[in-house]
Amino acid sequence: MNDIVRIPGLHHTLDYKPPAAEYIAEQLITLGIENFTKRYNKIEPLVPKYKQKAIAGFSTEAVLNALGNKLEPLVDVIASGKIKGIVALVNCTSLKNGPQDYVTVNLAKELIKRDILIVAGGCGNHALEVAGLANVDAVSLAGKGLQQVCEFLEIPPVLSFGTCTDTGRITMLVTALADHLDVDIPQLPIAVTAPQWLEQKATIDGIFAVAYGAYTHLAPPPSITGAPRLVKLLTEEIEEITGGKVAVSDDPIEAANGIEQHILAKRKALGLS
Ligand code: SF4
Repeated sequence: MNDIVRIPGLHHTLDYKPPAAEYIAEQLITLGIENFTKRYNKIEPLVPKYKQKAIAGFSTEAVLNALGNKLEPLVDVIASGKIKGIVALVNCTSLKNGPQDYVTVNLAKELIKRDILIVAGGCGNHALEVAGLANVDAVSLAGKGLQQVCEFLEIPPVLSFGTCTDTGRITMLVTALADHLDVDIPQLPIAVTAPQWLEQKATIDGIFAVAYGAYTHLAPPPSITGAPRLVKLLTEEIEEITGGKVAVSDDPIEAANGIEQHILAKRKALGLS
């Protein structure tokens, strides 16, 4: 357990400290045994009755397959502005900037409303599935242009791609798009967001995205605010080096505004309206 996931009001906060692992394990087992006698046969398991449809497992190949195994249709709908851009939403889930999944779900809704297609991966991806954004009924929540594309291809506006370790596979699709257009990654109308990241592995994904040349929205803010030079490097100066940069905001509308402005600026630079 660490400070990011600590739940307020707990009686026991047994932080994981490797040298004390045996002692902590013993404490946890003792607590479990004591609690078992209190709850056995007294608590009814509560499984939510809520069900939701979701289409999951959109690989690079599946996306290309939906496009007839060609990138031209994707390029055409981006060029025409039906899709303004693409955002990779790669995410955990956290109570730190909660309620749980609040930023994830509401940012995704804001982006699809603005004709921005989402490719989603990671544990937070299931929040989007539960919220009903990864099925074709969600097309009605998208902007007019994205609606047309989704209806034509019979895909949802949020493509549930896979796990956070599939980030590399998402970038294969983006790299293929850049190669096809003969431009570099930072020139594309794309962005990355991790609206409720939690784990160290997500930090690596975030740093990779910045190095890859992507505008990278991170929330909650990474634990680097005590290092002003590093903050300046990641939020400003690095754009000169890799073309990417970090943006932070716990507010879904503000985060969507930043992402949309970035995508519109990239479109303008490419001569797209
Ligand atoms: S870093 Fe961990 S918690 Fe976050 S999406 Fe990946 S597996 Fe899930």
